[in-house]
Amino acid sequence: MQTVNKTVRAMTEPLPIATAEREKLARDLTTIVGKEAVLWKTYDLKLYEYDGSIEKHMPDAVVFPTTTAQVAQLVKYCNREKLYYTARGAGTGLSGGAIPIKGGVLIAFTRMNRILKVDPENLRAVVEPGVINLHLSDAVAPYGLYFVPDPSSQKACTLGGNVGENSGGPHTLLYGVTTNHTLGLEVVTPDGEIRHFGGNAPDSPGYDLCGLFVGSEGTLGLITKITLKLTPLPPAVKTFLAIYDSVEKCSNTVSSIIQQGVIPAALEMMDHMMIGAIEAATQVGYPTTTKAVLLIECEGFPPALEQQAKAIEEVCRKEGVLEFRTAKDEAEREALWKVRKGAFGAVGRMSSDYYVVDGVVPRSKLPAVLAAIGQISKKYGLAIANVFHAGDGNLHPLIMFDSNKPSELEKTLKAGEEIIKLCAEVGGTLSGEHGVGLEKRDMMCFIFNEGELAIMRLVRAAFDTEGLCNPEKLLPTPGRCSETHLQTDGKAKDKYVRPEIGEVW
Ligand SMILES: Cc1cc2nc3c(=O)[nH]c(=O)nc-3n(C[C@H](O)[C@H](O)[C@H](O)COP(=O)(O)OP(=O)(O)OC[C@H]3O[C@@H](n4cnc5c(N)ncnc54)[C@H](O)[C@@H]3O)c2cc1C
Repeated sequence: MQTVNKTVRAMTEPLPIATAEREKLARDLTTIVGKEAVLWKTYDLKLYEYDGSIEKHMPDAVVFPTTTAQVAQLVKYCNREKLYYTARGAGTGLSGGAIPIKGGVLIAFTRMNRILKVDPENLRAVVEPGVINLHLSDAVAPYGLYFVPDPSSQKACTLGGNVGENSGGPHTLLYGVTTNHTLGLEVVTPDGEIRHFGGNAPDSPGYDLCGLFVGSEGTLGLITKITLKLTPLPPAVKTFLAIYDSVEKCSNTVSSIIQQGVIPAALEMMDHMMIGAIEAATQVGYPTTTKAVLLIECEGFPPALEQQAKAIEEVCRKEGVLEFRTAKDEAEREALWKVRKGAFGAVGRMSSDYYVVDGVVPRSKLPAVLAAIGQISKKYGLAIANVFHAGDGNLHPLIMFDSNKPSELEKTLKAGEEIIKLCAEVGGTLSGEHGVGLEKRDMMCFIFNEGELAIMRLVRAAFDTEGLCNPEKLLPTPGRCSETHLQTDGKAKDKYVRPEIGEVW
């Protein structure tokens, strides 16, 4: 995944900064963070020109602050020198949020990685943004607690990045995504001042500026401390694997389970293409007739859990499950999750490059949308595997391509855009968890009209008067997406009918 969206680069690439200027920049930054915390040579900068997306651009310097005061000084320096700056956590983002697309200073938070406080009585933790997601759950496990949002990248991604993207994960179906677990933030706003939004209490009076920051993709300022909600570990867990000989039966089961009033903690689906990749990598032993599988997990106190398990099995059988397996012990449960969380990696065996699409559709539209994605795959001649958070209707089609073949990347991006448009058209949205970043900036008009985008621009300008904070991300410039706009005249959203899928609003 080392290729570049050439259209975006051509429009935004600034002139390269001369070596002498870079040396001066490095000297200045050293006075703020120290010599060991600045990278400025091309060789080092190249390691920071990408994240998990297909975009790329080199910063002019990378800094690793260790205190909030240093972050504030860095922002003030960038303002004085009129330098762009971009926050970076672990760089696992899939929409290009941490790419310094206009160069400037990349502020990497990986050394601000302390868990500052754990308050088990009140189910709270205060952390620095560079703490790795899984490290927090590991640290609070002795208290019988965990941090719910569990992106599949949780061994690497940071909590600052999770807040930046409002990340989700397989277990957010029941308890909600990062915003539902973030209570307070310390941030350095683009004027270089240190401010506090939200707090320890579940709700703060006034505008919800903490909520506004969650998912703002580093465009409103830099997060330096986070107050998070912790959750008691479930008293008991049951994990099931439901195997189907038809994608339709499998996706119908998703809606049927939830219609029964049973909300599992996780409800994940994989289609036959993905199963093929997984089988090649791990030899799980799925029947050869498998077309789709559901990984289902429930949690709670044992008597209620037994009832839930029974209800789920009944629904699966009613929808025509081929085989229904229950994990017998923790080792079997872990094995099932290892397969799910390693799914993206398994695709690497089938294709040299792949592009992960992230869109959301109403659960009831899953069968039709998956069929339409199959049509898009045929139309572009590109294999597409699906692995996704089915309970949330959060799709992740993985489009496989070969970047060495001429125009294959362009074709891939077009197919991805068509899938996202499809999600918008059936009443879904552009992103369930990976954010907008550079990747979907110009698709924002699939779901927002010009008036709505203008309000978002005003909000951004209220924080970032100089326009230096993570430029080019999230919001399109006016008129940029008018060609593909669903609501070009700014009227209220009209009922949209897609012929093969039917009326949705
Ligand atoms: C294999 C794989 C699986 C994944 N699975 C999931 C999944 O299940 N669910 C999911 O939601 N995502 C998933 N992701 C995407 C990604 O891991 C998440 O978006 C994650 O939250 C990014 O964290 P990061 O530390 O890598 O942030 P980065 O990529 O470094 O940054 C992400 C955004 O946050 C901003 N940011 C980072 N730190 C700060 C800060 N201190 N202050 C202000 N802004 C900041 C950046 O500017 C950028 O816009 C996956 C990615 C991979 C590669």
